[in-house]
Amino acid sequence: MRAIDHHIHMYSRTTDDYERMAAAGIVAIMEPAFWLGSARRYPGTFWDYFNHLTTWEGQRAAKVGIDYYCAIAVNPKESEDARLAEETLAGMGEYLDRPNVVALGEIGFNNITPNEEKAFRAQLQIAVERNMPIMIHTPHVDKLRGTKRTVDILREMKVPPHLVDIDHNTEETMPVSRGFEGCWCGMTVYPTKLSPERTAKILKQWGSRRMLVNSSADWGPSDPLSLLRAAEAVRKLGLGEEVVRAITFDNPAGWMGMSPNFKFRVPATEAESTVT
Ligand SMILES: [Zn+2]
Repeated sequence: MRAIDHHIHMYSRTTDDYERMAAAGIVAIMEPAFWLGSARRYPGTFWDYFNHLTTWEGQRAAKVGIDYYCAIAVNPKESEDARLAEETLAGMGEYLDRPNVVALGEIGFNNITPNEEKAFRAQLQIAVERNMPIMIHTPHVDKLRGTKRTVDILREMKVPPHLVDIDHNTEETMPVSRGFEGCWCGMTVYPTKLSPERTAKILKQWGSRRMLVNSSADWGPSDPLSLLRAAEAVRKLGLGEEVVRAITFDNPAGWMGMSPNFKFRVPATEAESTVT
């Protein structure tokens, strides 16, 4: 099996994790820009972080044969500092231009405040102008209201749905996100958010079209292999290999593949078996 995890924060993971992921069949990943655990105070610390994601982190992944991509943004949690967000966005363009950047994200709401909305709208505008895939974080608290507000803004700004991944969906938010027709709907399999079994049941209810599953593994008690555990739960529920393939490979490749920077390389062993 080969799989793509389109939402994982390798900045906070070890080389052991990279090795386990490669051994389990993960061949490509995307790391969205996130909150580092303490609020940044200067635009320069964002830019250094963007520099890290677009240079060093890809080299760590390449050592175990994983293709590494990232998404760049000012995250929802730090959008509350409006001045910092504005100054950071003013210098973000050069990082969005870098060759391993395939999306803008993650953006959206944390506490659903006016300042968060301001940064969200500004970054949606940037992504639409660049025709880039967009990863949208939905809040952990008051998730349904945050998701509704998110979709209202997307509609009002006429953001093309096919570019958008509305992420971290649950049973409760899926009807709202699916209502933004044509968008991609992400689910995060994470101990405190959603189990593999619940993910499989949501896929049974809604089908696998434009559905994405990820680990969002970070500093917390998360699991960088949880996408593969969701695939197992899908099998156990009897949804079939087509659904497994959709969530582990075809759908994330389809969403990231809208960026010309996504150049997934077929592993050598597979290329060889195609030739013979
Ligand atoms: Zn994340």
